[in-house]
Amino acid sequence: MAAGIFPADLKQVHDFFVGRGWRLIYNDLDEEGVPRNPEALWGYAPGYGGATINSLDGVEPSKPDAALNLESDKPELEITTAGNENGCPQHARHVVISLELTAGTTELDSLNPVLDEIESAARAMNPRELIECRFFGACGASRG
Ligand SMILES: [Zn+2]
Repeated sequence: MAAGIFPADLKQVHDFFVGRGWRLIYNDLDEEGVPRNPEALWGYAPGYGGATINSLDGVEPSKPDAALNLESDKPELEITTAGNENGCPQHARHVVISLELTAGTTELDSLNPVLDEIESAARAMNPRELIECRFFGACGASRG
């Protein structure tokens, strides 16, 4: 596996997010319930009050997600907030945390307070405002 991720660590990360109501949205599980490879992406389904946002070539608002950054020497877990890929400061997504994962010492529980905030903000967010921001310029700048 790339970047020193062990299946046990991957399973631990997966179980941690699923336990918080996140879902594996990219990749699938092997017979042991472990994502098949580290190129996995977990998303926070209850974001936007649980509304489903249809995919539109990647311009749709995103719910929080988490992925392993496999480009660094040591694998890192990156969590990104809900929002737009391009948006005003209020609505742009940003990476809020990078947690270095070392074999057997993932310390995932330290993420709980940060995730509480990200999830709560995402549940309360109105995706219509994000869509307006995205399509009409930063917060509807072209509104008139
Ligand atoms: Zn905005």
